[in-house]
Amino acid sequence: MRLAVVGSGPAAFYTVIRALQKVPSLNVTIFEKGFAPFGLVRTGVAPDHPEVKSCQERFTQLIDDNPKQINYLGNVEIGKDISLKQLSDQYNAVLIATGAQGNRQLGIENNTAGKPLRGVVPARNFVNWYNGVHDGALFDPSLLNARKATIIGNGNVALDIVRVLLSPLQRWKDIEFCDLGSSVYDGISKSKIEHIDVVGRRGLFQSAFTNKEFRELLNLVPMLPVDPKSELDVEPITRIDKKKIKLINGISTGLFDNELLKSNKKSFQFKFHRVPVKFHGDERVTAVEYTYNGKRVVEETDLVFTSIGYMGTSAEGYDSVGAQFDVKTGTLLRNPETGIVEGTANIFASGWAATGSSGAIAATMRDAFVEGDLIADYLQKHNDTTAIEDNEKQQESPINDNINTQDAVSTLEQGNKRIITWNDWKKLDHEEIRRGEIVGKSREKFETKEQALEYLK
Ligand SMILES: Cc1cc2nc3c(=O)[nH]c(=O)nc-3n(C[C@H](O)[C@H](O)[C@H](O)COP(=O)(O)OP(=O)(O)OC[C@H]3O[C@@H](n4cnc5c(N)ncnc54)[C@H](O)[C@@H]3O)c2cc1C
Repeated sequence: MRLAVVGSGPAAFYTVIRALQKVPSLNVTIFEKGFAPFGLVRTGVAPDHPEVKSCQERFTQLIDDNPKQINYLGNVEIGKDISLKQLSDQYNAVLIATGAQGNRQLGIENNTAGKPLRGVVPARNFVNWYNGVHDGALFDPSLLNARKATIIGNGNVALDIVRVLLSPLQRWKDIEFCDLGSSVYDGISKSKIEHIDVVGRRGLFQSAFTNKEFRELLNLVPMLPVDPKSELDVEPITRIDKKKIKLINGISTGLFDNELLKSNKKSFQFKFHRVPVKFHGDERVTAVEYTYNGKRVVEETDLVFTSIGYMGTSAEGYDSVGAQFDVKTGTLLRNPETGIVEGTANIFASGWAATGSSGAIAATMRDAFVEGDLIADYLQKHNDTTAIEDNEKQQESPINDNINTQDAVSTLEQGNKRIITWNDWKKLDHEEIRRGEIVGKSREKFETKEQALEYLK
C-alpha cells in the first residue's frame, strides 16, 4: 500500500507515525516544496524556543529508522511539479498536510496612489526573516530603523515578535541551542525600535495569546500599564482569564524582578478595542487610524506588523480531484467519520490545512493522530492486490531503491527537477550544524534555496 504525503511539517510526520503503527507494511513518499523539511517548526517557531523544535529529532529518527519504507523528496511542489490528480491516481491514499500558506487579510487599504505603503508588513514576512528564510527577500531589515512599531493582532505570534525585537541582546548569546542566524542577529542588534504597541480589536479576554507566552515576555521586556478604565472593563470568568488579568495588572510583579528585565530600557503596551480603519503616510506608514469607543483615533507609528493569522489557500489541483475547500476558513473539508476530504475518493488532510491556522504543535499532533488512524482504517479496507504490485515494482526507483516512486519521479525528471533527497537534506543539516558550532549555536541555516542547491553541487 502506498501513501503520498504533501508537506513535511508536524501534521505530515505525526500522521505518518500513526498510520505506520497500524499498517506496518505501508510505503510512504513525502513531498516537500521547500529545500528543508519540518514546516513551521523550522520557519515559524521562534529561535529562542529550541525546546519546541526538539520534535524535529523525532521526525528525523522516523525516516532514518525506516529508509526502506519512507521516501522523502524535497524541493518538489505538488500542484506545480507534480499534480495532485497524478498522486491521487498513483497512490492508494494521499495526505494533504500543507499547513496555511497565505495570510488573513486586514481588509483595509495599504497603498497610496496605487503603491503599497512602505512599513506595513505581514507578520509572516518578518517571522520568515528572523527564522532565516530569506528567499524572495520579503522583509527589508532597514525597516528596523523605526523607533516605534505597532503589531495589529495579539496572538502568540505577536508576542514572539515583541520578544525577538525587544529582548536584551545578550540573551541571544546565552540561550543554549539557539538557531538565530548571524545576519538576523546583526539586523536585530541594529534595530532602533524602542517601543511596540500590541493592538487588539476586542478586549483582553478575547485576545489569543496564552498566559505561558505572556509570562515569558513579562520576564524579558517591561510592559507599560494598560488603562484599566477604557481597556479592562470586563469581569474575568474563567481560571485562565483570572490569571491573565493578574498578569496584566502586574499583581505578580515580584516574579518579574530579574536583572535582565531591569536592564531593559525598551517597552511594550497592550491596546484593546481598536478596530483599524486606515493607514496614514505618503510613502512610508506614519500612523494607524482606529475606531475606539465609538470615536476615531489616530496613533502614530513608524512600522506596522499585521499579525492577524496565517490562512489556508485553495491550492492548485483541488478542483481536479473534486476537493471541497472552504474559502472562509481556509480549510479543506473532511468527512468526520472517514477523514476523507469531501468530494474526493482517497485524499485525506491533517493539521492546519484541515483545522485552520490556530493551535500549537500538540493540537496539530492530536489531529494528525486521529487522521492517521482513519487513513490506516481506509487502507486496511482497501487492501487488495496493490501490495503485491508494489513489491514487484520496488526496485525501480532511482531515488530510493526500496520504494516505488517511479511514476512521480519520472515526471520530475522529465522536468529536470533537482530533487533534494533525504541524503541531500542530511548533508545540508550536517553543514548547518557544523557552521553553527563555529559560532556557538545549534545551527547556522542556509537562508535561500539557491545557497542550499549550490552547496549540494
Ligand atoms: C509564527 C509561528 C510560531 C509558532 N510557534 C509555536 C510554538 O512556539 N509552539 C508550538 O507548539 N506551536 C507553534 N506554532 C504552531 C505550529 O507551528 C503549528 O501547529 C504546526 O506547524 C502546523 O503544522 P502543519 O504540518 O499543519 O503545517 P506546517 O508546519 O506549515 O507545514 C506545512 C508544510 O507543507 C509544505 N507545503 C505546503 N504546500 C506544499 C506543496 N504544494 N507541495 C509540497 N509541500 C508543501 C510547507 O513547505 C511546509 O513544510 C507556531 C506557528 C506560527 C505560525
